[in-house]
Amino acid sequence: MLDIVTLGDERLKKHSILVPEIDGEVQELARQMFASMYANRGVGLAAVQVGSLLRLFITDINGDKPRVFINPEIVETSVEQVAIEEGCLSLPGINADVIRPLQVRIQAWNERGKPFTLDAEGMLARAVQHELDHLNGVLFIDRIAQKKRERLLKVYSRNN
Ligand code: ZN
Repeated sequence: MLDIVTLGDERLKKHSILVPEIDGEVQELARQMFASMYANRGVGLAAVQVGSLLRLFITDINGDKPRVFINPEIVETSVEQVAIEEGCLSLPGINADVIRPLQVRIQAWNERGKPFTLDAEGMLARAVQHELDHLNGVLFIDRIAQKKRERLLKVYSRNN
């Protein structure tokens, strides 16, 4: 089982790099990430959260199927934005409302090397944006007001 990287680990601030080839190693990484995500009762996980700086993340949202996104790109976002509470396996124990676009169109490759385009909304759109942020070294607490972030980080350091 792969351990989850948590706040304070410098890797979480790094830009992940493009996956050069979707091979057995990448498929195995995705498989292990699902195991870690399910063990921690998450609904999304980026490779960096298990210490791999590859542009890959997974989701398994209630009502949707498990999905692998390799070299993902958001190509369109709705003008309409919405506040939804987010948490993160790399920041256990804290949550905050984050404002993001309601819908996104994302292009990526799946674990079999097949390109796809997905129009996501609701929780899937939310997870996709949160996980894609991880690939660019951004955490959900980077997207909230500074005062609120400081308050949450105090809570976090008390609990972790
Ligand atoms: Zn996260």
